[in-house]
Amino acid sequence: MPGTLSFEDLKAQVKDGTIDTVLVCAVDMQGRLMGKRFHAANFVEHSHEETHCCNYLLATDLEMATPDGYASTSWRAGYGDYVMKPDLSTIRPVPWLAGTAMVLCDLLDHHTHEAVPHSPRAVLKKQVARLEAMGFTAMMATELEFFLFEKSFDEIRKEGFRDLQPISGYNEDYHILQTTKEEAVMRPLRNCLYAAGIPVENTKGEAETGQEELNIRYAPALDCADHHTIAKHATKEIAWAHGRAASFLPKWHHDKVGSSSHVHQSLWKDGKPAFFDGDDDLGMSELMKHYMAGLIKYAPDYTWFLAPYVNSYKRFSKGTFAPTKTVWSVDNRTAGFRLCGDGTKGVRVECRIGGSDLNPYLAQAAMLAAGIKGIEDEMELAPPTKGDVYDAEKAPDVPRTLRAATETLRASEMLRAAMGDDVIDHYTRCAEWEQEEFDRVVTDWEIARGFERA
Ligand code: ADP
Repeated sequence: MPGTLSFEDLKAQVKDGTIDTVLVCAVDMQGRLMGKRFHAANFVEHSHEETHCCNYLLATDLEMATPDGYASTSWRAGYGDYVMKPDLSTIRPVPWLAGTAMVLCDLLDHHTHEAVPHSPRAVLKKQVARLEAMGFTAMMATELEFFLFEKSFDEIRKEGFRDLQPISGYNEDYHILQTTKEEAVMRPLRNCLYAAGIPVENTKGEAETGQEELNIRYAPALDCADHHTIAKHATKEIAWAHGRAASFLPKWHHDKVGSSSHVHQSLWKDGKPAFFDGDDDLGMSELMKHYMAGLIKYAPDYTWFLAPYVNSYKRFSKGTFAPTKTVWSVDNRTAGFRLCGDGTKGVRVECRIGGSDLNPYLAQAAMLAAGIKGIEDEMELAPPTKGDVYDAEKAPDVPRTLRAATETLRASEMLRAAMGDDVIDHYTRCAEWEQEEFDRVVTDWEIARGFERA
């Protein structure tokens, strides 16, 4: 049970007054929690069966605009309903809010009660099921990096997002002194998540002013994505409760390092790490090599799932620990893929391409699909790259713009076969819309550069 409360436990806590509110949440395309706050009595009596939401929740952008061009829903189709089906194995307390519990939902078709194919949980479950059919469990960990700012979201918005001040005045990578000053936010974050059944390993300062990292213990892929989503949400809410803002925008300033979400991956069989082979120099099994070969070959196909906005691509720059090359190396942070735990049972591959804005369900699903293809085709892994990979001229590049990644997504036969044409068409439209919106807007940079001098 990935949650910490059974439905019976919840009923008992509602009866004794411990819980009065249940957050009933689905995950949208952007990886956000969307849903309703139920009076707990109503939830335990009725709504635990199912509730509803407008089906535009899987067809909006960050600002809840309603772009055209989606086959699944539209103004013409009348924006009907989805069923929100609570997954009762995910019930957990929300310790940072008084008297509150949470449940995650699957989104189902209103008429057929079939899973909505492009809903992020369904997209991931499909790849997990493919692996299960092959006898494997994917064990994953997604790191969360973000920036803490001195002021709150509301103050910052009212001031036009100008003169942003991170919470610290210097690069705080591994700093205990500076991170002590941030404990008002970070300690409740660790403890509340832990109490909600999310196995927090640690938090640490990251390599920029005001930058933080949260590490959660690896878990089966769906649990990992649920943990990531709830942890990101909690980070914003707990920061807000302390008058601060937490931003997962990958690149909030061109002179600052960006925020990533590295994804650690290993496959297990019968409870044992199937990526480990003690006879190999690096401890890598043949299975792991095939998986990694697929992961690397198809990186351009799925880059959009790791970097879904215009801003995401500002992160990919030389000398910032954000990778620009789709090669692998052994414990080397300049490559797109890093072998970690070599020679041990913890041997795993870390994909370093993803930004802090990735949707963990979609990102993991796409990478698992690539790895499965590598296994199916018994693809051969090229030797590791050594040294500073930024200067490895022959190494293939990660798509460097949203436009380029949209086209590699659209054209990906591998992803179309693994996820379905309808799913890829849906997310390609999502990617296009983001670019269309950006292209429409005149930016501050253009004004400052050209207003007088053009
Ligand atoms: P880093 O140096 O990148 O911070 P860590 O040792 O802190 O590396 O581990 C990073 C993440 O990798 C953690 O979330 C951890 O739970 C996860 N991890 C450890 N072993 C495995 C494994 N076998 N498969 C997947 N993830 C793992």
